[in-house]
Amino acid sequence: MLADNLAQVQKNIEEACLAVGRDPSEVTLVAVSKTKPVEMLKEAYDAGARVFGENKVQEIMDKYDQLPGDVAWHMIGHLQRNKVKYIVDKAAMIHSVDSLRLAETIEQEAAKKNVRVPILAEVNVAEEESKFGLKVDEVLPFLEEVSKLPHLEVRGLMTIAPFVDNPEDNREIFHKLKELSVDIAEKNINNITMSVLSMGMTGDYQVAVQEGATMVRVGTGIFGERDYSRQD
Ligand SMILES: *Cc1c(COP(=O)(O)O)cnc(C)c1O
Repeated sequence: MLADNLAQVQKNIEEACLAVGRDPSEVTLVAVSKTKPVEMLKEAYDAGARVFGENKVQEIMDKYDQLPGDVAWHMIGHLQRNKVKYIVDKAAMIHSVDSLRLAETIEQEAAKKNVRVPILAEVNVAEEESKFGLKVDEVLPFLEEVSKLPHLEVRGLMTIAPFVDNPEDNREIFHKLKELSVDIAEKNINNITMSVLSMGMTGDYQVAVQEGATMVRVGTGIFGERDYSRQD
């Protein structure tokens, strides 16, 4: 069943690509496995998933050694500075960098472990009060500072769009993030590339792909509904 879900999501991504003349190989599916038991991650792994998204440092640490070494763990949730040290050498990418203080902490911890960490700048495109992320006009000045940090590799931008019933309602948000990434790419800032656009979740990833997403973060569509009552 999980394998069927995964195949269906991949097929939907392909269809969304073909609809706008994109090559499906440009889009990476991040299987968002937060709250899900390791057995389910193994099932997804056996069905071909290699990129997993988690939003808690503790969960990455718990699951990390229980899956094969070729899994790429993506940190997609809000990251507290005091926890950076635990994942700086475990996360293949941190999607949720939204302050210079956080970027500087990642720099310090990455330097200690002698690793370079691929990161995305999280942008609150919709300017929702409840959400983390930089405002659109804060992103360029932020990246100009981050570009000076030698252990960080900025790969692109990420946004969490509002929860909507009709995915078309988020099209403009995705379009804005794409435009912002093009604008920033044109500045040719040292140490910064804009090859990754992480946007789209279960409810709206096809629209996000049509608007240029190169990473979609799909949880429920692969693993089913999350049961938060079981969380400690
Ligand atoms: C949980 C989560 C997702 C996946 O959400 P679904 O609606 O289950 O696909 C994607 N991105 C982030 C940042 C998340 O926290």
